[in-house]
Amino acid sequence: MEMTDTHTHTWYSGHGDGTVAEVVAVAVARGLTTVALTEHLPLPPEVDPTGTFAMTEDQVAPYLEEIERARKEYPGIEIICGIEVDWREGAEGYILERLGPYELVLGSVHMLSDAAGNVWEFDHPAYIDGWQERGEEQVWSEYLRLWSDAVRSAVPFDVMTHPDLPKKLGFKPRFDPREMYATMAEVAASKDVLIEANTSGLYKPVAELYPGPALLRAFREAGVGCTVSSDAHTPGDVARSLDAAHAAMRAAGYTHVTVPTRTGDRRLIALEELGGTRTV
Ligand SMILES: [Zn+2]
Ligand SMILES: [Zn+2]
Repeated sequence: MEMTDTHTHTWYSGHGDGTVAEVVAVAVARGLTTVALTEHLPLPPEVDPTGTFAMTEDQVAPYLEEIERARKEYPGIEIICGIEVDWREGAEGYILERLGPYELVLGSVHMLSDAAGNVWEFDHPAYIDGWQERGEEQVWSEYLRLWSDAVRSAVPFDVMTHPDLPKKLGFKPRFDPREMYATMAEVAASKDVLIEANTSGLYKPVAELYPGPALLRAFREAGVGCTVSSDAHTPGDVARSLDAAHAAMRAAGYTHVTVPTRTGDRRLIALEELGGTRTV
């Protein structure tokens, strides 16, 4: 029986807490065999003027050093040095220049931009008004286009995170989403990226795993591999509710969790062996 968590954050995010060593210590205490640190890639100051959406450039070196130190302190667990990347319109070159140090690249769309280039964080409770301004269908359709652009881009994303993030504040699609889900599954399969069963959505207003059951099934039917993660923003949430992620994967017809590794390879863990998994 093996448990893994391939998406976690620290205080470097600007909106979480805990150090790299604390995240790893909890991962070890909870019996994980792999943990990935996946802090948010620094954003340009005009996009993140307060430094609360992502790491700042001057935090990158200490982040990498702390991961190296944690590997010495905890040699029994695989610690992946990862990064969560915000895909934005026109950001491909900016992103590619910054990926050098990382073993795992998570792809996320957290923000849409308008014609003037202003960004809107659609999943942030403080900016919920933007949903009324644009309309729900418009938000989902812009999201789908950006998400698909990200997957098809030159950025070597390993995992597309929380694929139906726009639902976070409660805006689940009220239109028939089957065509959108089929498109996402087809795009992901065409680039052989993984998706993740991310349990943090269970604790957000939508109270549902990312992705929801129908989208997860669409990914499985298209042959897209799936990893599992907590997206913890505090050490106590590392590995949170992984049993729910495993159960959702089984219900969608998956037989294995696909786990990224430090070398860029992937390994498989049979869901059958995770039956009695203790989770938090
Ligand atoms: Zn995210
Ligand atoms: Zn995250």
